Amino acid sequence: MKYVIAVDCEGPACVVGAPGGTLNDAPAQYEFARRQATAEASAAARGLFAAGATQVVVWDTHGGGVNLVYDELDERCDIFNGVHGPRLAMLDATYAGLLFVGYHARDNTVAAPLAHTFSSATYQWIKLNGREVGEIAIDAAVAGAHGVPVLFMASDDKAVAEANEFFPGITTVTTKVGYSWNAALSKHPRRVLAEIEAAAQAAARNPGGVKPFAFTAPLELEIRHKRIDTADEACLPRHGWQRVDAYTVKRTLRSVTDWF
Ligand SMILES: [Zn+2]
Repeated sequence: MKYVIAVDCEGPACVVGAPGGTLNDAPAQYEFARRQATAEASAAARGLFAAGATQVVVWDTHGGGVNLVYDELDERCDIFNGVHGPRLAMLDATYAGLLFVGYHARDNTVAAPLAHTFSSATYQWIKLNGREVGEIAIDAAVAGAHGVPVLFMASDDKAVAEANEFFPGITTVTTKVGYSWNAALSKHPRRVLAEIEAAAQAAARNPGGVKPFAFTAPLELEIRHKRIDTADEACLPRHGWQRVDAYTVKRTLRSVTDWF
């Protein structure tokens, strides 16, 4: 029984960034976020091991993939970090499930702390087959391409709602309720850990009817940029995008894994 816990840094309790930038532009919040993401990942791992996991890989996904405080993670975990390999490169069909800790809502979501899809500076939204998607659905589809289902989500209420929309029956923990891009009412960051541990254990023990997630292929990928010049750049012949309007570009993918 092997699992991957994908860990981002925007969704943990008490993480709201600061106005005018990304989480990384708010040094005190980033420092807290990476420690709380580490603690929430450890809590989920404890739950998985209690349910009989033989291996738990913690994937450090935020930014350059080097955020967590590795020596504070539950020492039974293995760690996948860094960037520039295929997305979820460590995953294969031998894994029993993917868990999301600290993921955030997709772009174009109201009252969702730090909501974005890959780049809050560059994109307004991303659609696959006409449906707005964020990192939750995209990473779930990459796992789904390997036959691995999503079992669990711990994040703010908007990201939890997004997970419930894409993966009915998933086990969730709400770490905070979002009030704006930079405001939330959080559970105490230590108290939420026990809730995450118990829920992850329950999700592994009783995965219910959750199925590997997939988009129908071929996939129509559409991206609305924030700036016309970055849309211009995407449409240079070597990048292979087609123009929809000044800000929006599109392309067709055979599989979600061809994106990365
Ligand atoms: Zn992030």
